[in-house]
Amino acid sequence: MRTNPLIKSAIEAVKQAHAPYSRFLVGAALLTKEGTIFPGCNIEAGVPIGICAERAALCNAVIHGEKQFLELAIYTKTRTHTSPCGVCRQMLSEFSRDLMIHSVNEKKEVVTWRLSDLLPYPFIAEEAGAYSRETGKK
Ligand code: ZN
Repeated sequence: MRTNPLIKSAIEAVKQAHAPYSRFLVGAALLTKEGTIFPGCNIEAGVPIGICAERAALCNAVIHGEKQFLELAIYTKTRTHTSPCGVCRQMLSEFSRDLMIHSVNEKKEVVTWRLSDLLPYPFIAEEAGAYSRETGKK
């Protein structure tokens, strides 16, 4: 099963989280269509400066040339399940609107959402005529 290594990666990534201000530690891991996993953690550098774990994982993947994703795991040591913030939802939808998102809590219980359910009407620059995904031009 592909989800287990993905969740393990998110749990491992939380160990690198740098959140001295909020103390809300988040680990994430993004699975590409080819089966590669890219981890990320939240990084704070003051208030409100920082990046969420989901976007850190996305940046990690994109800088390695990956732009198509199947699943994302998010881990927080909380009783409830954490969902991506609005900024992360928008950025993830730029690449994979039907991304499956697994949120893992402190008991390792998993809740799964589809990104298109969490953000049904994302802003899509291509649809607005801003550019073409294939050519990168207008
Ligand atoms: Zn976020």
